[in-house]
Amino acid sequence: MLTDLTWPDAGAAAGAILAVAVGATEQHGPHLPLSTDTDVAVALCARLAAARADVLVAPAIPYGASGEHAGFPGTLSIGQAALELLVVELCRSATDTFARILLVNWHGGNIEPLRRATELLRTESRDVRLYLPRFEGDPHAGRSETALQLALAPERVRGDRAAAGDTRPLAELLPLLRSGGVRAVSANGVLGDPAGATAAEGAALLEHLSADLLDRTRLWWPENSPERTGT
Ligand SMILES: [Zn+2]
Repeated sequence: MLTDLTWPDAGAAAGAILAVAVGATEQHGPHLPLSTDTDVAVALCARLAAARADVLVAPAIPYGASGEHAGFPGTLSIGQAALELLVVELCRSATDTFARILLVNWHGGNIEPLRRATELLRTESRDVRLYLPRFEGDPHAGRSETALQLALAPERVRGDRAAAGDTRPLAELLPLLRSGGVRAVSANGVLGDPAGATAAEGAALLEHLSADLLDRTRLWWPENSPERTGT
């Protein structure tokens, strides 16, 4: 963890990849905590750091662009423009110390601003990469995220309140989500169905995602390679 270091330690670790989890504080149905997106992104960063000695984990960004979840109490959204600026300035500062920055995102609404921020940072010759997990699963607070949270922190899942939301495919829901947000399609905030989710399924999904993240970073930044300078 970066925050455990002193500044001379951080200076000595400048060759590390700095991993920054990007999450959200937003409703995840009546059964999952508001921190779910941040929790998953943090877990992926921690697993990467456990697998690669040259990865340091920064404090997570717990706020994202969650406008589509407005109207559900507890959702705290900073919007796309603020997230983009936050990430640009954070990475400009981080690249004063670290040549390689990895953003690990787990919230769909963050993707566009993160892509824009990453593109700008790369035109500034900063070696900033964005990891967007790909997996088959329901979009929001359904079986996949319930399984992941059961694997990470089962005591934080209110299983007795888990209920299906709108189970139509995301492609069909997207136009409705764009115009009216999640409120317009799902009264309980769930897109998908948490039924049948298990901790074992969540652990397997975490394993799959962690392996994919590790592969991806090896492609970008081979281990034991000469230190990159961000060009
Ligand atoms: Zn989520």
